[in-house]
Amino acid sequence: MSPAGNEFVIEHYEKKIYDQKQLLEISKALNSTLDYRYLIDVILNICLAQLQTLNAAMYLEPEVDSTMFRLEQSFKGFEIGDREINFAIPMDSPMVHFLAEKPKATMLKAILAIPELTKDPIVTFFHKLGAEVIVPLNAKGRVNGLLILGEKMTMSEYLEDEKEFMTTLASLAGIAVENARLYELATVDMMTSLKVHHYFQTKLKEEMDRCRKKGTNLTLLFTDIDKFKVFNDTYGHQAGDVVLIEVAKQLINNAGKHDIAARYGGEEFCIVMPGATEEEGYEMGERVRKSVESMVVANPNGGEDLKVTLSVGISSFNTNDRSNKDLIERADKALYQAKHSGRNQTICFKPS
Ligand code: GH3
Ligand code: MG
Ligand code: MG
Repeated sequence: MSPAGNEFVIEHYEKKIYDQKQLLEISKALNSTLDYRYLIDVILNICLAQLQTLNAAMYLEPEVDSTMFRLEQSFKGFEIGDREINFAIPMDSPMVHFLAEKPKATMLKAILAIPELTKDPIVTFFHKLGAEVIVPLNAKGRVNGLLILGEKMTMSEYLEDEKEFMTTLASLAGIAVENARLYELATVDMMTSLKVHHYFQTKLKEEMDRCRKKGTNLTLLFTDIDKFKVFNDTYGHQAGDVVLIEVAKQLINNAGKHDIAARYGGEEFCIVMPGATEEEGYEMGERVRKSVESMVVANPNGGEDLKVTLSVGISSFNTNDRSNKDLIERADKALYQAKHSGRNQTICFKPS
């Protein structure tokens, strides 16, 4: 082989080694989080960076028994209108079947050339959107999502190596997304989208351990809807559920990035605030309480709008605390005080 030929071969293998290293790093990044939303963002950003495109989107299964893939809202670049945002992809559509048979990065051009697929509305939709490559995500031997990429910034064609890269990325991403989804299903309350009790207890313990080691603050908020039994008796359980979901939203919307909003049980919700002082907890309690107070919920049975109020109890970590129980007990006592001194208020625990 000529020296120039040799150089070409070396360059080719160097590129291969570089790509493998990148994939290893990507694999580490994908395996280091079980946060579903964050993971999707990471995957899309990897696509933008590695494949030099400005447009990337993912369609995933929103629920356990979904029959449609839905667009993840953190898509990048693509100009997707309001109507198109809701465009769902039936999992049994011809295009998905085709990709399940050939699970690899496929140019839309190639799909458009297949007579049975040209008329698939999904193919037309992606074409209109400016998609250039479609990559099926795979987990447990089935397609569990679609990754869509637009044209390259350079306007050049995707190379074979790049398609190979995308296919490998999709198999890593498919498993990571599946794991994160299962984790989310196991840790998030279906009705309210708050974290479940078990997750709350585990995280609270972790955070208390961190306080002990690092000497940081930690505050716990307990909330309980006022006179909710009467509410249910008056408006019915179904209206009660609608209100519960709306109250949960106020906790989720007010909670900071590192706060953990959870459903302790029934209509008792809580927020773990790592790093927060009692005063900051009180401010949070008042913010949540006021947003619930000003909330007006349409009655699902018609008639007058629904309104509820919330009582909040606050406790903060102290170094004598041995277990979750100590902090929870004090928040509960503060909540009891709030209930017995008029409700619709936030009270911080004070030793008697
Ligand atoms: P208080 O102001 O003292 O808290 O009065 P309360 O009536 O709210 O008393 P309590 O907190 O003990 O009652 C909780 C009620 O919440 C009883 C239960 O029927 C209702 N509840 C608990 N979970 C759910 C739920 O998932 N949906 C509905 N609709 N109601 C629930
Ligand atoms: Mg209660
Ligand atoms: Mg109550």
